[in-house]
Amino acid sequence: MQATSRLQLLDAHDAHSASARTELDPHAFRRRLMSWYRAHARELPWRGVTDPYRTWVSEVMLQQTRVAAVIEHYNNFLRRFPTIVALALAAEEEVLAAWSGLGYYRRARMLHKAAQFIVQERGGSLPHTAAELRTLPGIGEYTCAAIASIAFGESVPVIDGNVERVLLRLTGRAEDATAAGRGFVQQQAAALVPRRRVEHNVNAAGDHNQAMMELGATICLPRAPLCLHCPVFSMCQTRGEHITPSRAVQRSRPAAYLLNLRKRGTITEVLLERRAQDTSLMAGMYELPPLPLDAVQGREPMLRLRHAITNTNYYVQVFSPRGRYDRGLRRAVPAARADLQWVRTSRLLSLPLTGLARKVLQRLDVMAVQPVRLPEPEPEAPVRRGRRSSSRPAAKLKPTY
Ligand code: SF4
Repeated sequence: MQATSRLQLLDAHDAHSASARTELDPHAFRRRLMSWYRAHARELPWRGVTDPYRTWVSEVMLQQTRVAAVIEHYNNFLRRFPTIVALALAAEEEVLAAWSGLGYYRRARMLHKAAQFIVQERGGSLPHTAAELRTLPGIGEYTCAAIASIAFGESVPVIDGNVERVLLRLTGRAEDATAAGRGFVQQQAAALVPRRRVEHNVNAAGDHNQAMMELGATICLPRAPLCLHCPVFSMCQTRGEHITPSRAVQRSRPAAYLLNLRKRGTITEVLLERRAQDTSLMAGMYELPPLPLDAVQGREPMLRLRHAITNTNYYVQVFSPRGRYDRGLRRAVPAARADLQWVRTSRLLSLPLTGLARKVLQRLDVMAVQPVRLPEPEPEAPVRRGRRSSSRPAAKLKPTY
């Protein structure tokens, strides 16, 4: 085998001398990786699908989001929008409603826009190469490589946070956010991807990329890698002796919301506030009306919960006006009357709710919890992905922490 076709374990510019450089045989690496992957890959609803649209939806959902949270939304989303055409024809509000709870709603908006573009300009068919996919609205470097290799078999590396971590540990290279550091990871990943196109129904590049991501998500975990279960242990330079990146500092913030319900005959309605269309976060989505903290001083909330968004923990209290004493609570809502709407609780599932509003309404049994089929619990690392809590119903109207 030629030296140029091998993965260099240490960068040429590494402080170590050239003699300290070792090389990894990509064939042996791929053999071990794929044999492990065939035996241990999780069964996920987007694995083995032949429809590129489904691969696209799953890859967009998986950005910043854990697999368990994606499964529920992926199945529901595809039931509602089974084709690119169905997605393109839907109203944005419907798309956001199906995305509710996944967070990072810009992804849903861009997915919708790209579907409209594909239907209008490309007759409804996705481009087949990473370079062409990159020209679509909202499709970044990671997503275009993932679709091109997984759906169309193009030999391009897919690099997410998991793959980057695996490669850095394999090579013993420190994390480096500079262009040189990114170039190094790109070079290492590209050296490992099989060159073959799809042959005899085998998508070597797509399978390899999925196996790399699976290794990072289930074995080469961020804080405690399971090195003794690692199929490429003998080829790894660090074997758990890597430098653990420090956690981002977590911030805490208190927040208060109003839960106001009313009855109209047999119909129950809840008061919701629509976020402004020009706000940078969750524009146009519905939430419970926020309350100023000084308006709830000394009151007992009906529900307490923690809600994490990236590196901020929101300690949320929900108050419900009951009786004459609580009239001031309703008046304390600072939102303009035009931004407040009474919404039938039976409509909540089809409304673009913020993740927090959905969580609160489900905890308090105001909104139904959709049944979720989760895979067997496994260790799993997010892929530069945030965490989303699964919703669970709690005792009605009881404060809980
Ligand atoms: S041996 Fe450990 S550190 Fe190295 S790639 Fe495998 S899991 Fe990661």
